Amino acid sequence: MVDAFTGRGIEAPWQHQAVAADAAWHGQHVVLSTGTASGKSLAYQLPALTACLERRGARGQRGATTLYLAPTKALAQDQLNGLSSLGLDVRVTTHDGDSGRDQRDWARDHAEYVLTNPDMLHRSLLPTHERWSRFLAACELVVVDECHHYRGVFGAHVAQVLRRLRRICASYGSSPTFVLASATVAEPEVHARRLTGLDVLPVTGDASPRGEVSLALWQPPMTSFTGENGAPLRRAASSEVADLLADLVAEGVRTLAFIRSRRGAEHVAMTAQELLAAVDTSLASRVASYRGGYLPEERRAIEASLRSGELLGLAATNALELGIDISGLDAVLMAGFPGTRAALWQQVGRAGRGAGDALGVLVARDDPLDTYLVTHPDVLLGQPVEATVFDPSNPYVLGPHLCAAAQEIPLTEADLPAFGSTARDAVDSLTAAGLLRRRPRGWFWTDRRRASDLADIRSAGGSPVQLVEADTGRVVGTVDASSAHSTAHAGAVYVHRGETWLVESLDLDEHVAVIGRAEPSYSTTAREVTDITIVAEREHRRWGDCRLSFGEVDVSHQVVSYLLRRQPGGEVLGEEPLDLPERRLRTCSVWWTVPQHALDEAGLTAADLPGSAHAAEHCSIGLLPLFATCDRWDIGGVSTALHADTGMLTVFVYDGHPGGAGFAERGFAAAREWLTATRETIAACECDEGCPSCVQSPKCGNQNNPLDKQGAIALLDVLLGAT
Ligand SMILES: [Zn+2]
Ligand SMILES: [Zn+2]
Repeated sequence: MVDAFTGRGIEAPWQHQAVAADAAWHGQHVVLSTGTASGKSLAYQLPALTACLERRGARGQRGATTLYLAPTKALAQDQLNGLSSLGLDVRVTTHDGDSGRDQRDWARDHAEYVLTNPDMLHRSLLPTHERWSRFLAACELVVVDECHHYRGVFGAHVAQVLRRLRRICASYGSSPTFVLASATVAEPEVHARRLTGLDVLPVTGDASPRGEVSLALWQPPMTSFTGENGAPLRRAASSEVADLLADLVAEGVRTLAFIRSRRGAEHVAMTAQELLAAVDTSLASRVASYRGGYLPEERRAIEASLRSGELLGLAATNALELGIDISGLDAVLMAGFPGTRAALWQQVGRAGRGAGDALGVLVARDDPLDTYLVTHPDVLLGQPVEATVFDPSNPYVLGPHLCAAAQEIPLTEADLPAFGSTARDAVDSLTAAGLLRRRPRGWFWTDRRRASDLADIRSAGGSPVQLVEADTGRVVGTVDASSAHSTAHAGAVYVHRGETWLVESLDLDEHVAVIGRAEPSYSTTAREVTDITIVAEREHRRWGDCRLSFGEVDVSHQVVSYLLRRQPGGEVLGEEPLDLPERRLRTCSVWWTVPQHALDEAGLTAADLPGSAHAAEHCSIGLLPLFATCDRWDIGGVSTALHADTGMLTVFVYDGHPGGAGFAERGFAAAREWLTATRETIAACECDEGCPSCVQSPKCGNQNNPLDKQGAIALLDVLLGAT
């Protein structure tokens, strides 16, 4: 082992690697949460490989096994390449949808180190556990890599899959140690415990040497263009990035720019080429755009010309993450916050050679979250505030996994606590519904179907809508049932892995949207109207006379139209009505109320209230993704000056997925930080009466009207001052 790693230039582990490896070797579950390129793999490879080599039988039979789980096949493949290159005599293989029958048989019967994903565990390995019994009986280590990917509804599913795995291992007499690896997030031990159901030791101090990274936060200026209700618009982030790319290339700085869509990336590269050609024609040819889907040799050629410096600037979509080896650049530009702090640092990590210095520039988009980040650098540089959240007790997730578990081995009373405090109720209702049958030896699955088919772990419930290419009939991708109305309606511009498509039609009965490749000069955003009733308050906190609550709600929402905006630029080109049915949803929500006398004392009149609450709601939806690691499209909101269920001014922010995904719950837990950030974002924006950077929302079904920016600040002051 030592020779193998020394041969790769690793003389000794860094401290965080040693601490995590040592803990795992001694059977302590551990989560390693450190930065990009801090060598997290070594921390679990040391105990895993040592166990494989040391526990062999006298005739070389396998004695200890490791199960490695990655969120993508590509990542498992990377791990395989890394492990193979060590040249150790360990039997390693991947097990995924691409594996042939021979490879699967070999993995089951001989492999010591199996690299797979939660999907395979759920659909294949656990349902056929009897065939895997020897592998599972010998399992000493389970590695859950890049575990911050498991969030929202997907996270809840994976948490239940891991509980099923632990139960099956226990039935074969093993109790593997879990090692989780994650990007830097808030409270990694909380996330790891929710995911595995185990107490997990956090290791967070990153001892790897780093060059200096300068992070620049860049807010584009207001333009003379106006958007909805005459609101000022900022210059498009991609236009600013094109200028910066040209400037850096002109200085000989090797730069990579990340843009959301391929069309945007091509536009950025072309603009930069034009700007450079005006200075020096030879420079223009040293900028290119990168799209996904290149052949391996084309990819190698681009990688090589970047490495040699022949190519100085590259504009790419995030699809670049799918398998191109580019690192060691001088600078990285990002057109908009990539969604999470982890993703931001991953992108910045493409710059910097060894311990050399690097530059990262985040150019803000015209929305509340980016506005907040560029005015609060500490959020990106200090202790992380974003937590990866999910709710394993979501009944829509838990039910199918209990059925799958019962089919694997009948469920007993003793099994239930591991599945959470709501498991007993869930089993009773599954029994009442005829899905499970109670017998003296436990609950049995007696249906003929495969129980694991009840749960699609990548989808948020309901049958996903398939995106079918009109010309070829090929399925390009899928959209969750819960978001199909807003993203796959007829006329929608849909960006999928950086490629732009136009939706021709949506058939809700057949769960199919027909799409075609297109290069429209605009984007679309669906607008919806929402109504909400409270089912049950689960928790509450009093802030003076104000009240903050978390609980269950019934939401009815309807996509009523979509807006067309010029790209880049963002000017509104028009609004088209849509005729889609109302959808109903039982989910979780956070909400807050302010009593009438507090509003009176703050001088907020009845006429101010609807616009003030509405503006506060919009901005708070824009900011929650910073605390709950979700997308603003995963959550929704309702505000009203007087709600029938509370009798007061009430603002709701709810999870857009059936049963809730943990986002609203996190909003409740982090309410003070979240709503303070909301207030600061509104106050920090230099517009007069509200704009997309603060209180306007692209998905507002009420034409962003009324909105009262100053009133929202006053209202939030009442709420936050009331503690
Ligand atoms: Zn503004
Ligand atoms: Zn609205």
